[in-house]
Amino acid sequence: MPELPEVETTKTSLEPLLGQTVQGILVRNGQLRWPIPEDIALLKGQKLLQLYRRSKYIIARFEKHSMLWHLGMSGSFRICHSEDELRKHDHLIIQFDQLQLRYHDPRRFGCIVWLNDENQKKLLDPLGPEPLTTDFNADDLFEKLKTKKIGIKIAIMDNHIVVGVGNIYATESLFNLGIHPAQPAHSLSFDQIEKLVSEIKRILQQAITLGGSTLRDYSNAMGENGYFQQTLLAYGRAGEMCVNCETTLENIKLGQRASVFCPHCQPFKKASV
Ligand SMILES: [Zn+2]
Repeated sequence: MPELPEVETTKTSLEPLLGQTVQGILVRNGQLRWPIPEDIALLKGQKLLQLYRRSKYIIARFEKHSMLWHLGMSGSFRICHSEDELRKHDHLIIQFDQLQLRYHDPRRFGCIVWLNDENQKKLLDPLGPEPLTTDFNADDLFEKLKTKKIGIKIAIMDNHIVVGVGNIYATESLFNLGIHPAQPAHSLSFDQIEKLVSEIKRILQQAITLGGSTLRDYSNAMGENGYFQQTLLAYGRAGEMCVNCETTLENIKLGQRASVFCPHCQPFKKASV
């Protein structure tokens, strides 16, 4: 599943389209998570002015309209030339002056919708702070977690608390700090929260630098793969030896998600409160 670093990498790789005008649109299959808007042809003749990322959404601002794009489970964008062969799950093609943007999504959980008031309210407004900005900081996180009895891993993966901390990044940062993933969120000290905030920022930044984690269907818009996955120490390694102590890494299910941890390096500490 594309995570925040892949979305950031995707956004950057779409930048060659900035300043180009939409010449034509072809919807081959509009049945995504929500249908592609029937009036998407309104984009024709509009220049692409800006690309932003908010959480795992890409916001594409055209002259008169803005769109909200999400890659879902298996979506990817690719910049192509019109003569490049179409692939089976290329659902949407936007022809710009020189280049074509193709949206590919085998599982069709992604979304391509207008950024209107309704979608702003429903999809963007409830989101917590961006992890790589100063809005995500230890004071704020400590305040939010001090009454939360849920496990710390579930807490940091909650989009209302902070966006973009997917399973990989949560697993890796807790492993690196020796914090058990099921440790009640309110039982962490301020010092631990401070370290967690900076570790999450460090690991996300590293993943962005390395071009995303390249899980399964992901590749960025230029068809290149990321290298971050090769640096993972805990995620996806249940049954393997811990790199620090050689204990076998275990897997527990937390909130329906696999959570790999080292029982020796990440001991569960009973909360004192
Ligand atoms: Zn260990």
